[in-house]
Amino acid sequence: MFSVSRPNTVPQSLTGTNKDYRSEEVLLTLKKMFHGKCYLCERANISDIQVEHLDPHQGDLIKKFNWNNLFYSCSRCNSIKSHTHTNILDCSIANHDISHYLILECPLTNNRDIKVTVRENSPSTQQSVNLTLMLLDECYNNTSTGIRGISRSELIKDIQRYSFQLQKIKNELLFPTEPLAQSEIDLKIEKLKAMCSPQFAYSAFWKWAITLDEDLSELVGNVF
Ligand SMILES: [Zn+2]
Repeated sequence: MFSVSRPNTVPQSLTGTNKDYRSEEVLLTLKKMFHGKCYLCERANISDIQVEHLDPHQGDLIKKFNWNNLFYSCSRCNSIKSHTHTNILDCSIANHDISHYLILECPLTNNRDIKVTVRENSPSTQQSVNLTLMLLDECYNNTSTGIRGISRSELIKDIQRYSFQLQKIKNELLFPTEPLAQSEIDLKIEKLKAMCSPQFAYSAFWKWAITLDEDLSELVGNVF
């Protein structure tokens, strides 16, 4: 998960008499706010878009059209979260870097699970952190139906594609085949930092891949 900043202005289609939370206005505002990524799995440029209610509305009209309750999601994560996962961390709360709470690790082979763990000394909202861990574990690893098996397979391959890019840059930095100029080292470090920005696909994975690596963390510094 990654943190976002929610515009204060409530879209007009959520006020007045004919409310519509799937209007073009709401969708385009959410797309920009979430950088076109699913707020749960962080897949980028999603086209299977769903407007997700963080607090499931279950017919409650206030929750259904509450701007602060609307999130940009892919169809896989939306169907997994459904109305069964509640008290999930809110990534749109200001000054609250949500990626710091849960460690995400991509395996080397795609028949292994994505590892989701709680960071040591996690903050006092422990229950929400644990419930979010359970949800993300399902979003990344659930293969309970034919569709989920295929979407999970594509998801992990997409994450691994970026993971290999990071490993390639790491290899070039730590084991260069010829001496690197400082400008070349700086450029590679900037590329690693760019992977950690909220705009980049699966950014929380790369923050942890750098933070948990003693060589990369020394070179790149704090990415949270
Ligand atoms: Zn998703």
